Amino acid sequence: MSENSQVLALKYRPRRFEDLIGQQTISQTLSLALDSNRLSHAYLLSGLRGSGKTSTARIMAKSLLCEQGPTSKPCEVCDHCVSANSSRHLDIIEMDAASNRGIDDIKDLIEHTKYKPNSARFKVFIIDEVHMLTPQAFNALLKTLEEPPGFVKFILATTDPLKLPATILSRTQHFRFKRISDTDVVHHLSHILHQENIDFEPEALNVLTRSGQGSLRDTLTLLDQAIIFSKGKITTVGVTNMLGLLDPKFLDQLFDVILSGGDFRVMLNTLQEYETTLVIDEMSIYLKDKMLANDVKFDILLYDRFFRILADAKQLLAINSDNGFVLILMLSKMIEATKLKTVDEIISHVQDIEVKQPQAQIQPQAQPSVQPKQEEKVEPQAIVKEEPIVQNDIQELIVEPVVEPVEQIDELLDKGFELYETVIEAIFEKNHDLGACFEENFVYNKYENNRLLIDSYASGDCRAMLGKYWPNIKMIILAVFGEDTNIDFEKKHRVEEPKTTNNTIQNDIKQEQEENNNQNQSGSMIEDIEMQTSGCVAGMGDVAQEHQNLAQKEMQIQDILNSPMLNKAKELFDPKKITVRAKT
Ligand SMILES: [Zn+2]
Repeated sequence: MSENSQVLALKYRPRRFEDLIGQQTISQTLSLALDSNRLSHAYLLSGLRGSGKTSTARIMAKSLLCEQGPTSKPCEVCDHCVSANSSRHLDIIEMDAASNRGIDDIKDLIEHTKYKPNSARFKVFIIDEVHMLTPQAFNALLKTLEEPPGFVKFILATTDPLKLPATILSRTQHFRFKRISDTDVVHHLSHILHQENIDFEPEALNVLTRSGQGSLRDTLTLLDQAIIFSKGKITTVGVTNMLGLLDPKFLDQLFDVILSGGDFRVMLNTLQEYETTLVIDEMSIYLKDKMLANDVKFDILLYDRFFRILADAKQLLAINSDNGFVLILMLSKMIEATKLKTVDEIISHVQDIEVKQPQAQIQPQAQPSVQPKQEEKVEPQAIVKEEPIVQNDIQELIVEPVVEPVEQIDELLDKGFELYETVIEAIFEKNHDLGACFEENFVYNKYENNRLLIDSYASGDCRAMLGKYWPNIKMIILAVFGEDTNIDFEKKHRVEEPKTTNNTIQNDIKQEQEENNNQNQSGSMIEDIEMQTSGCVAGMGDVAQEHQNLAQKEMQIQDILNSPMLNKAKELFDPKKITVRAKT
């Protein structure tokens, strides 16, 4: 057999440890063992077919027998190396356990171990596919394997170490061969093609490697076939035709049709020429490659959907569904999957619905019956987050309920009210007791057309005090609202104010107020409820609704005043004044 007609797998079979493809760890370990002369009498090499087990066993045998050895770098020129390379060495005995699996074969082999090596220092027995031996054969081998004569070395190789008895495994040094990575295989293929002076398309090597499934020998066999098939240049189309695979360009077109939601029926005929399982596998591999390459054509969510659809299609095939039907269903589902909304789109869609709903519910308001939906609708506007902010000022304890939605409050909080707040603050600064009296008895009503309307609840000592200091108060009001402001009063009576007096604390506070008003000297504890924030009601224009809201709001203010946190704060700070304000 001439060099050129030799198949690539044999021609490029590795002769040295460094030639082994993708098994660096194992070649390093064995090299070290050889160089440091720490040799075991039995090795077990396991791994996928074509991962280099037999080659390693032969290199190992040669390294043991070389005149310079044992060495990891056999000289390749001595008689032992030359005969080992040509598989003619008398002291290297290879046995294929797949075809010699009986007890008689093993007895012959054991008989062999009793005689000294012919010319070398060791007698090396290489038993391939050792898991194929019968149990009797294994038992016969055990004794020899455990204590062979000093000149005997065993190298066992198997694709299926799990089938070996534990007694065998425990008597050998076990090396597990990895699946050779595709990158290593492709690299090796291109190296061989350069050596052989054959032109090729890189993508074609990827296709070949994938089909070889990690077995270098299988891939090299396919490469042999491709060289003959392609007549001069190895092309992707040539290789996919030879292997009966889908052309990657065809898959490009197919996915373009899917992504654009086009008509896939024209491509169905081509697809049906192939095994459906193969089509699904090819599509998976195609998608995987696109995913790794970060192809912008595909959304990350789309990969997930596509892979699920492919998995479903495989399951359908497993229960013997019609191939054509599975293909059509799979492609239709993929097109449908591209139309689905992304998570972001769904979220914004849900948010749109939420915003629209309250508007839609205001329209049927004409029905005054108390609908549970209407109650629900009121709730979010008056929800009070109980997070009272206790200011470090002992005299003032401001509870700020957060009232939602904020937009409606913003519309209704008028400027006059803000200015009025400034007035109150200014009076407090001048005279604390006067400020307290003012704030409690002169409640802001409205401010429009330069007219400030104040609701007056003034009575008793407070009334006298406010009268006495009125010029000063007026000066402050004019300074804040403007010189040309008209100030009007509307007389009010406090007794009407609280609508829900089922609350004892409120009454307690009121009593305290009266006492304090009488004494007028000690600090007063005044509860000030500002109703201006009930603005959400105004938009409704429904009196019944307004009453309901007012009552509800008062209840909530009571809730705030009675909240455990505020009670604790009252204990701690003994405040003179609690103001409940809507958060602006
Ligand atoms: Zn040698």
